[in-house]
Amino acid sequence: MNRDTLLEILQTLSNTHGTSGDEIEVRRALRPYLEGHVDSLRVDAMGNLIAHKRGAGTHALRVLVTAHTDEVGLMVVDHTGDGGLKVETTGSIDARLLPGLEVRVGKDGLPGVIGLKAIHRADDDESVTAVEHLAVDIGARDRDEALELAPIGTRMTFATTAHPLGKLFAGKSFDDRAGCTALVALLQGEPLPFDLFGVFTVQEEVGLRGARVAGYTVAPDAAFVLEGTIADDLPKEEEGSPTSQVGKGPVVTVMDRSYIADPRLVRYVVQVAESAGIPYQFKQPGIGGTDAGTIHLTREGVPSITVAIPCRYIHGPISLLDPQDLEHTIALLRAALEQLTPEVIRRS
Ligand SMILES: [Zn+2]
Repeated sequence: MNRDTLLEILQTLSNTHGTSGDEIEVRRALRPYLEGHVDSLRVDAMGNLIAHKRGAGTHALRVLVTAHTDEVGLMVVDHTGDGGLKVETTGSIDARLLPGLEVRVGKDGLPGVIGLKAIHRADDDESVTAVEHLAVDIGARDRDEALELAPIGTRMTFATTAHPLGKLFAGKSFDDRAGCTALVALLQGEPLPFDLFGVFTVQEEVGLRGARVAGYTVAPDAAFVLEGTIADDLPKEEEGSPTSQVGKGPVVTVMDRSYIADPRLVRYVVQVAESAGIPYQFKQPGIGGTDAGTIHLTREGVPSITVAIPCRYIHGPISLLDPQDLEHTIALLRAALEQLTPEVIRRS
């Protein structure tokens, strides 16, 4: 797939709104990219979109590759007397990023602005923001109108439109629409030597929930999780290594807060990257969590690994990635899957 096509898919998926538990628009956006390229496509009770691509039958393996469709966002939890919306986060968002941002509210994408007391009136101790101090302004006249336009449970996401930024690409929700883009590219490619199950999961940001069910349904022999992960190479810290860096290639997880990656798969993926001349980096261990955290514990256990695209400023209104990292991630995943045999994950 050429870079323009790849970035067009990323742009479409990034501009689509879908917070945890409300991923329907993302599924709708994905379908046209998958139909005709896979043998079956279905949605389970949770909302996971499950694509099955039959293999050549060389190996009797079932391999699961996932990317999550949900993004972090906000949910209306109360209304103020003057027409403002009180919100709670779905997934982790640094509330310091929120004041003054524009958001899209509800199914119709009503414009809203996240309000905070004017700086001219703020006390010193209010310089640090907490989400309970914020109210989203949708221009409602009063509480009744706000209730009608945005009842409790209404979702909202950042009003960001994806665009090129220097040699990088900018947009919201690259965690994990970048992973979804990579999974689309994989599924559009040639069949593998075994059956591939590509699952676009739900509710990752609130506790890896969709993946728990998808792992059970697919009952895979091995799982590869595609992510958009933390690249904190800018601003540079004085001490300590960054979690990952933009432009340095796919990020391989050894251990995060949710699981320890299967050491055989880690060795295998690294060896494939080295022999194919694809750059890679290790994610600084102990940070974050991914769908592999629940998948590896399903049924009798599933050897699992996470390969991620490094993205700056994830969980914020605009994240940045290097298109070359996305391409390298797709190339590494394809090479690793094409060469995967039962021996790689055979227990001794
Ligand atoms: Zn993620």
